[in-house]
Amino acid sequence: MKKDFLKCLSFKDMKKIYIANWKMNLLKKDVIDFLKKIKKRKYQSADLVLAPSFPYLNQVSDGLKNSAIKLAAQNVATQEKGAFTGEVSIKMLKDFGVRYVIIGHSERRQIFSETDSMINQKVKRVLETGMIPILCIGETQEEKNSGQRETVLVQQLRNSLSRVENLANKKVIIAYEPVWAIGTGNVVTESELDEAYRAIKRAISSLAGSNFFEEKVMFVYGGSVDEKNICDLKKIPYLQGFLVGGASLNVDRFLSLVNA
Ligand code: PEP
Repeated sequence: MKKDFLKCLSFKDMKKIYIANWKMNLLKKDVIDFLKKIKKRKYQSADLVLAPSFPYLNQVSDGLKNSAIKLAAQNVATQEKGAFTGEVSIKMLKDFGVRYVIIGHSERRQIFSETDSMINQKVKRVLETGMIPILCIGETQEEKNSGQRETVLVQQLRNSLSRVENLANKKVIIAYEPVWAIGTGNVVTESELDEAYRAIKRAISSLAGSNFFEEKVMFVYGGSVDEKNICDLKKIPYLQGFLVGGASLNVDRFLSLVNA
């Protein structure tokens, strides 16, 4: 396929996407083993993305050469470059062929105190560099219990996407990840997902138009996706993919979700 054609391809033409978020798991030998196996295995028509931890970005980038599987980063610095010990810049990610960057994961928000304003800066860095943000949003258990799901999602979206230049022409993945579902074994119900989807669609359409939502935004779900719930989730027509944590650490488990 020609590059130009790929560029104008709408997200709606894409296959379902499966993003493996390895978090701070897997060591060098595990990564080698995962790459060796995934390249040999057959999987149904789908777009696969691996998000390794930073020390293995180079290794995964090399390992995925000549493969259709894409590379994601789990985070990026808000700053462009300079004296920011421990941070990784967007240009460094670009050097390794990173295509997607996970931003605003609830673990970053809660454990590392990332604010919507920092998330907004990261979204801008990623988009300016021509990459695709995987913007994670979701309510906590308390927010869910007090009926604040929609308010929280709308606020997170507005703040994270505020003042993004030319937003209507950018591609963005929105990962709805209820915090109470991450790593807990509790998965969203279809009616909860419907409610979140409608709120997200309304908020994004009011920010940059309904065409933007239809053409450029990909809506994925994350939170305890596993072998038991994947078949039901896959039947939901507007769900375009999954962000998978725990079940992505083993290549057989990960591909069993893709092939389910
Ligand atoms: C995540 O942390 O993005 C995630 C979805 O994790 P898990 O699948 O383990 O719930």
